[in-house]
Amino acid sequence: MPLNENQTTCSARSKNSGERCKNPAIKGATVCRIHGGSSPAVRRRANERVQLEKASKLLGIPADVEPTEALLHAVRVSAGDMLTLGEMVNEETSLRPAYERAVDRMAKVSKMALDAGVAERRVNMAERQAADMMRVLQAGLDAAQLSVEQQALAREAMAAEVRRLDHAAYEANRRFNKSMERDDV
Ligand SMILES: [Zn+2]
Repeated sequence: MPLNENQTTCSARSKNSGERCKNPAIKGATVCRIHGGSSPAVRRRANERVQLEKASKLLGIPADVEPTEALLHAVRVSAGDMLTLGEMVNEETSLRPAYERAVDRMAKVSKMALDAGVAERRVNMAERQAADMMRVLQAGLDAAQLSVEQQALAREAMAAEVRRLDHAAYEANRRFNKSMERDDV
């Protein structure tokens, strides 16, 4: 569900008159405080949507998905970017600003996931998955004894491929979750 940029009104209707409630809906949800918006479950889901919307804006990923998976995906992508640039900046100092932006983005995305209530160990695991992948790639580069320029080219190509794979896994996960949702109905 797309998040309302401007606060919208509550979607509840009066049982007697059938008229729509005129209270503002809470951020990230479609109901006001009186009509369910103060319940912990609704508030938690609303907050997840708000955090996911922020992360999706930052990284350009779709927001119409299960928030926990999407936020973990965002953590993996931004950790991968940060680690790739971290390796490259050692040899190419002009990449320093890009690397610093990646570090900053990574910190923000992790915080968004934690703020959305994603368990810290799952956030840490997503970061570790990205680090493991980078180690595998680095071992390959080291073994090939490439020049600095060749390493940089190889690293960029591999980072793009890892990102593509992660997106593909994420899309598959998304479709799977959607099909499970349909079965629930
Ligand atoms: Zn209401």
